[in-house]
Amino acid sequence: MISWVKYILTKDNTKVNAGMSLFFREENVTMRFYVNTNAQPNGDHEVHRATCAWLPAPENRLYLGDFTSSYEALLVAKRYYNRADGCAYCCPEIHHS
Ligand SMILES: [Zn+2]
Repeated sequence: MISWVKYILTKDNTKVNAGMSLFFREENVTMRFYVNTNAQPNGDHEVHRATCAWLPAPENRLYLGDFTSSYEALLVAKRYYNRADGCAYCCPEIHHS
């Protein structure tokens, strides 16, 4: 399935419908992730995508790496902070508290 989608995308980008382009974005495009070095009032250190409106200032964030999914970023963030959690705005899929 994945290789088939990649083939279609390479062959002719215009044939890809919205659902497929979403699939493509989720599986293949890397995004920079950061964790807030300052804990939230509840003790969580929030993980953000580089494009998030709530991304902390450079002095208050730690670069985690480039990942295709926020789940990978969360795993890395947990090496630094036991209480790492996804930002509700940019990473709702890993937001728990
Ligand atoms: Zn965010």
